[in-house]
Amino acid sequence: MPQSANWNYPTAYRFGPGRVVETAEACTGLGIKNPLLVTDPGLAALPFVEAIMQSCRDAGLGIALFKDIKSNPTGENVDAGLAAFRAGDHDGVIALGGGSGLDAAKAVAVMARQSCSLWDLEDVGDNWKNADPDGIAPVLAIPTTAGTGSEVGRGSVITDQAAHVKKIIFHPAMMPQMVIADPELTLGLPKHITAATGMDALSHNLEAFCAPGYHPMARGIAIEGIRLIKEWLPQAVAQGSDIEARGQMLVASSMGATAFQRGLGAMHALAHPLGALYDAHHGLLNAILMPYVLTANRPSIEEELNHLAICLGLEDAEGFLAWVIELRREIGIPNSLAEIGIDAARAEQVGAMAVVDPSGATNPIEFTAEDYAVIFKKAVHGDA
Ligand SMILES: [Zn+2]
Repeated sequence: MPQSANWNYPTAYRFGPGRVVETAEACTGLGIKNPLLVTDPGLAALPFVEAIMQSCRDAGLGIALFKDIKSNPTGENVDAGLAAFRAGDHDGVIALGGGSGLDAAKAVAVMARQSCSLWDLEDVGDNWKNADPDGIAPVLAIPTTAGTGSEVGRGSVITDQAAHVKKIIFHPAMMPQMVIADPELTLGLPKHITAATGMDALSHNLEAFCAPGYHPMARGIAIEGIRLIKEWLPQAVAQGSDIEARGQMLVASSMGATAFQRGLGAMHALAHPLGALYDAHHGLLNAILMPYVLTANRPSIEEELNHLAICLGLEDAEGFLAWVIELRREIGIPNSLAEIGIDAARAEQVGAMAVVDPSGATNPIEFTAEDYAVIFKKAVHGDA
């Protein structure tokens, strides 16, 4: 693995161990003089966060910390961050965290100086045009997990608590201007989080690969992302201190989010309502759902999976499915939703919510609410 590298794809991307020390210089380069660092309370307590703050102060930047981001952030949570941003008269956001921290921070940045509400930017039709592009603050993203890829994405998933649904907030200018991808920040992740977030990255690459539509660049990135995950996720879980495994997973995670410009699919269409209804981990949900959704989609993606299998050194679609099952077992992912305490009682509601989730629009098969309910029930009971 190269020690470090810089890419523009299309986000400026600084990759390499130890590069978090470049945070202050990166802010200056982006024209940010008074950043608000947005993160969660767990990360805020770690020494490297104070080191970032101090390096920014030493560089003459004004900087403040907003550390109240919850996992599965809500609209209220974003509003609190936004209040801090406006009160401190900040001019940019340092988004630090896993999916929740990055998504909430990006939502604060897009809302920085808007007169519309957050939900006016829900990813439906041309809603993003409700935002004034001049009112969006620049973002420097520093991921601390390898899964969401939100550091290179143009959307945020935020829970609307009143409606009990996860909504995607979207604006093309929400894509962070720069990423610092420092694998040293992911070394301390526990095994189960490494496994669940890694499977989220796999689901992004895989759903993007299976999505219909012509986007050969995204397709190529997805195949290589899946290959990296096949090679490195078991090692990142087994040996969390392996900096190369951590680095390769960090890149594969960004590749997943780059690839899913092509679209996601039924794994995410189901994982979003399940996350909102049961407050379960997003990556873990995708990991459990993966083989059930692949099996349901198989009639229309058999040829694609055969091709993917060959790229991965596997025999065919059957071999690919067997590999997914084996990978899940190897890294400790449960086989059924029942094993994480989800039963089938709300199957009808889950189906109704999944069918309107925007992720499902690019699933290879257009599932009905009933189809989604059937897949969900199979995943609950572990019926292959
Ligand atoms: Zn995801």
